[in-house]
Amino acid sequence: MPHQTVDLLLTHARQLCTIPPHDGGPQRGHALGDLGIIEDGALAARDGLIIAVGPTNDLLDRYTADVVINAAGKLVTPGLVDPHTHMVWAGDRAEEFEQRIAGATYQEIMAEGGGIARTMRATRAASLEELVTTAKKRLDTALSHGTTTMEIKTGYGLETAAEIKLLNAIALLDTEHPIRVVPTFLGAHALPPEYADDADGYIDLVINEMLPAVTAWKADHWPGDLFCDVFCEEGAFSAAQTRRVLEAARQAGLKLKIHVDEFKALGGTTLGVEMGATSLDHLDATPDEEIALLGASDTVAVALPTTPFALGLHDYTPAQKLLDAGAILALATDCNPGTAWTENMQFVLALATRYLKLTQGQALVAATLNAAHAVALGARIGSLQPGHTADVVIWGTGDYHELGYHFGVNLVEKTIIGGRVVYDTAKR
Ligand SMILES: [Zn+2]
Repeated sequence: MPHQTVDLLLTHARQLCTIPPHDGGPQRGHALGDLGIIEDGALAARDGLIIAVGPTNDLLDRYTADVVINAAGKLVTPGLVDPHTHMVWAGDRAEEFEQRIAGATYQEIMAEGGGIARTMRATRAASLEELVTTAKKRLDTALSHGTTTMEIKTGYGLETAAEIKLLNAIALLDTEHPIRVVPTFLGAHALPPEYADDADGYIDLVINEMLPAVTAWKADHWPGDLFCDVFCEEGAFSAAQTRRVLEAARQAGLKLKIHVDEFKALGGTTLGVEMGATSLDHLDATPDEEIALLGASDTVAVALPTTPFALGLHDYTPAQKLLDAGAILALATDCNPGTAWTENMQFVLALATRYLKLTQGQALVAATLNAAHAVALGARIGSLQPGHTADVVIWGTGDYHELGYHFGVNLVEKTIIGGRVVYDTAKR
């Protein structure tokens, strides 16, 4: 058989984890953790897409390539997908961290005008260029730790012009940085001081002024999916207010997400399932009845173990109950300046193995294929199979069991996006 020419041929992976979709979709419930390992595996890519995976000898018989990477003895997986971040912000909250060490709660800091409101003031004051420049550094960190796709939320503007500035920053990051970015409008993240005693009035503003502006922005700037998210939580927004925003967003053609049950369950999980949300995120305080509803739905459950960790709390997402209920479980960093400043999905794997009791293989699937479904990209990324985008991580270890186990250091050797090496420890 004559050799076909491809752009990239990656050979001799000790373990090539293909992470196969199940019935064309995510890996549900306790079926989570199917890695589809090919030993001495290889991958061929052309025009940014995977065209074949299989044993190295088979692929060497079929393909020649411009770029050949010998991954001798290494672990190869899909790129990591981070489906929940607040990556664009100005200022920092280091002082608040010191207050929290001294015993102040998240809610006490919020009541003093700290928390999200502090980041809002700095973000409103920052220029678009400043926001993009600081966020790019965070995306560089994420890329070096193996993240190839990242969702990024607005929500530190909390007024129409500043929220649109954040969407512009997110769109610029997508074009100017190798990481593939998925935008989410989170106008209903917190009450700005102008509406301190008028949550319904602020929700009116989100629906009547912000959403039309966001829809117009999408028409001009964003052909892909745009999500709308709400922080449904005591001290933020009620389930009824969340419903009003999401109904208007759905009407405008946006896909839906909700921050639910981070501290208190307000019925956001039931609402999200009923409205067909793509994902529900946090789920630390979700009651058993709502876990059952979520498990029977196609809505992805996104656990954010960095948040209880960073707040020194002990209520993590009840991942085992979610798996028992058949849920689609994914992981994300929740990267934000207040409760979880890490860009590193490997650290999330370390927390998920210890506190969510996921095996290393389950955590890896939750951070790739299932995370891709949490941003409605499961048909294109998160799995190494023909037709998927060639987003790949080559690790400096040969065994996936080291992921999560060996923590606090970076195990990535190379990150590849769309068939192109975009991070390489050998070239630093
Ligand atoms: Zn969040």
